[in-house]
Amino acid sequence: MSRYIATAAIRGAHKVVRQAEELYADALKTVGPDAKIQFKDKGGGGTAYWLPVIYGFTGQKVETIGDLKKSLEHAKGLLPPLPGEHVWLPYLGETLDAGMATLFAEEIIEGIRFAKGQQPETRNGFTFNGPINDVQMRGWGIQMVDGRMPGFAALLGAAKNNEVAVKIVRELQSKGQLVFLSSSSNGRSIVDQLLESGVQLGYDTFTVPFGTDTISTIYALGYASRATFSFGGVTPGDFRRVLLYNKFRCFAFALALGPMDDVKWATGAGAISYGFPAVCDTAVPNILPTGITQYEHVVSMPFDDIPGRDDMERAERLVQRCIEVRGIKIKIATIKIPVAYGPAFEGEVVRRADLQSEFGGKGGMCFEWLTTRPPEEVEDGKVTVVGPDIDKFEVGAKIPLGIVIEVSGRKMQKDFEPVLERQVHHFLNGAEGLQHQGQRDITWIRLSKNAYAKGFRLRHIGDILHGVYHNQFGAIVDKIQVTLYTEPKKVQELIEKARGIYKERNDRIAGLTDEAVDTYYSCSLCQSFAPTHICVINPERVGLCGAYSWLDCKASFEINPTGPNQPVKKGPCIDQTKGEWEGVNKFVYEHSQMKVDRFTVYSVMDSPMTTCGCCECVLALIPEANGFMVVSREDYSMTPSGMTFTTLMGTVGGGLQTPGMMGHGKYYITSKKFILTEGGIKRLVWLSKNLKEELGEELKAAAEAAGVPDLLDRIADGTSATTPDELVAFLQQKQHPALEMPPLL
Ligand code: SF4
Ligand code: ZN
Repeated sequence: MSRYIATAAIRGAHKVVRQAEELYADALKTVGPDAKIQFKDKGGGGTAYWLPVIYGFTGQKVETIGDLKKSLEHAKGLLPPLPGEHVWLPYLGETLDAGMATLFAEEIIEGIRFAKGQQPETRNGFTFNGPINDVQMRGWGIQMVDGRMPGFAALLGAAKNNEVAVKIVRELQSKGQLVFLSSSSNGRSIVDQLLESGVQLGYDTFTVPFGTDTISTIYALGYASRATFSFGGVTPGDFRRVLLYNKFRCFAFALALGPMDDVKWATGAGAISYGFPAVCDTAVPNILPTGITQYEHVVSMPFDDIPGRDDMERAERLVQRCIEVRGIKIKIATIKIPVAYGPAFEGEVVRRADLQSEFGGKGGMCFEWLTTRPPEEVEDGKVTVVGPDIDKFEVGAKIPLGIVIEVSGRKMQKDFEPVLERQVHHFLNGAEGLQHQGQRDITWIRLSKNAYAKGFRLRHIGDILHGVYHNQFGAIVDKIQVTLYTEPKKVQELIEKARGIYKERNDRIAGLTDEAVDTYYSCSLCQSFAPTHICVINPERVGLCGAYSWLDCKASFEINPTGPNQPVKKGPCIDQTKGEWEGVNKFVYEHSQMKVDRFTVYSVMDSPMTTCGCCECVLALIPEANGFMVVSREDYSMTPSGMTFTTLMGTVGGGLQTPGMMGHGKYYITSKKFILTEGGIKRLVWLSKNLKEELGEELKAAAEAAGVPDLLDRIADGTSATTPDELVAFLQQKQHPALEMPPLL
C-alpha cells in the first residue's frame, strides 16, 4: 500500500465527512429534520432503494434529513485518525475504511442537496442526469447478463483536450461499456468537453453525466449497490455480499483523468472496496493486487508517456488497458465500415437537421425480408445494390429501400427466419449515424450527414448484416448475401411479395399453441443473479422479461446447444388446466438447486413460476375484488394492494415461489393461456394504465375471445382506484365479471 495514497485518502475522507457534518447541521436549521429525501433523475424517475450505498451497507432506509444522523455517526465511526496523529502502518484496511466513510458522507451530502432541491445539478443551461432511475437500471440489467454490455466505466475529471475526451468515450461505447461522468480537474469537466464537441449524452447513448464535483461519483456506486439487490438477491445490510457481488459480477472501473486530489483519492479508496480498480492518466504510485481484487487497484498511465503515434492512439491504448486491468471480455464483432460500430450507438437519434437520407417512415417505402435459400444460390459476403445509391439523391431525400437478406445453412430452419430478421433492428442501429426503427414493411431508417461524409453508402448496410449474422448466428447460418433495392418499381413489387410472407408467418405463429409442441424451452440467463430461478417458456407464454419467446429460445438452442436455453420435454400431463407436466417439474427441480419441485404454467394460486427480478409485470391477488391486478414496471404509482411495483417486486423476486403472485411478460396478458386455472383475463380487475394503452388492440381481441368485448372498460387502473375500497366500488359500478366468479380463496 502506498503511503502517499493512504495519507491522501484519509485526509480526503476527513474533509468530506466534515462537509457532510456541516451541511447536516445547516439542513436541520434550514429545511428541518422532517424534510424528505428522495433520489430522482432529471426526468423525475426515482429509486425505491433510498440512499442505496448506505442502505446496502447498513440496511438503514434514509427517508428524511433526521434519518441522516445515524448514517453520519456511521461515517464518523469508520474514519481512521488523520495521518500524523498516529504511527502509520502499511495496511490497506484503514484506507478502505476511510473510503467507505467517504462514500457514506458523499451520499449524505447528495441526500441533503436533494432535500434542498439542488440536485440534479444544472450548469450553463445544461441539466445533469443525477442518479439513474430504477427502470433504466433494470433495462440495462438484461444486457449486462447476456454480455452485450460488459460493465461500466466511471470517468472522473477532464481529458487532455476535447478530442481525447471524445475518443475515450467513443472507444468505451464501441466496447459496450456504460459510461458515467463526474468530477472535474483544473476547473474543467469531461462533460463540458463532450458537450462542446457535440456528443449526445444520456441513457440512450450509454453516457450518464452525474455532476461536476467528485461527490456526484457516489451515484455510480449507488447504481452498483442497487444492482446487487435487484439482480443478485442480496439483502440490504449484508455488506459483505454487496462487495463480493460487485467484485465478481459487476465489471466496473474508474478512469481518473487529470491531476488527483485528496477527495478523489478518498472516493477511489471507497471504489476499491467494491473491487473496482482505478486507472489514472497521470503519474501516481501503483497499487498491486491483494485479497480484495485479483488485479491492480491503482494503475498509473501518464497520458503523454503512452506509446502511440498520436493522442488518438494513446487514448485507444488507455481504454484498452482499463479493459485488461478489469479483465472484461468484449463480445462485439469488428465490422469494417467507415463509421464506428457498437451497442452504444443503438439509441442514437438522427435529427432532421443532421439528416442525409431517409428510408421509409411517413409517406416512404422500406422493408426488410430475410429468407432461406439453397446453398448453391447464396454467395457469402456478396452485397448488391440495385438502383441508384445515396449519392445520387439530394440531401434529406426520402429513398425507397428494400433490404433482402438471403441465408443458407445446414441448421437453418424456416422458423428461424423471423427471429433472425428481427435482429436487423439491433444490428443496423449499432452503426454510428444510422437510426433504425420498426421492422418488416414498417421499417424506417435515417442516415446522418456525418456518416455520409465519412463514406457510408448503401452497401455498408449489407456489410454490417453479413458480419454480424456470421458473428452471432454462425452456428445456424453458413452463408449470407444481401441485396439492396432502390428502384421504386422493384421495391413496390418486392414489398408486396414480402407482405405475403409476413402474413404466412403470422398465421403460423397464431397457430403455434402449447398443445402443438412436445417441447418447451428453459432460460437460465438470470441464474447469474437469481441462482434458483428458471424460466420455462412455451409458445403461448414468453419469458417474464419479455425478451425471449419460444421461437427465440428454439433458435438460441440451435446456435448454442450448451447455452442458457435448453429443451424441456413436456412428458406426461399431470393437469391440463393448470398446465402441469412431469417433464417440466423434473426439469425445474433439477435446475433450481432442488428448491422448486412443481411448476404450473397456467396457474398463479398453485405453484406458479418463480420470478427473478426482470419481469415486465407483477400479477397479484386482490382478495376483496376476487380477482387479480397486473402492475407494469413502468408504473411508479400506488396500487390497490397498498404496494408500488418495486415493493411488489421485492416480495415476489429472487427466485421464490409465491402463490397468489408472480412476475410475467406483458404479452402474457393477451395470451389464451393467461391464468387459465383461475378463469383467464376475466379475473383481471386492475391494470396499469400504460399497459391498457400499449396493448390496446391485443387486449380488445383477448376480451372478445373471452366473451366480454367491453372488458377493458370494466377494468380499473391508477386513475380510477388506488385502494381496495375504491376498486370494489368501481367494479360493482361496472359489473365486472370477476365479482360473479367462484371465490378464489
Ligand atoms: Fe431471465 Fe427469464 Fe428473461 Fe431468461 S427469459 S432472461 S431467465 S427473465
Ligand atoms: Zn431475470
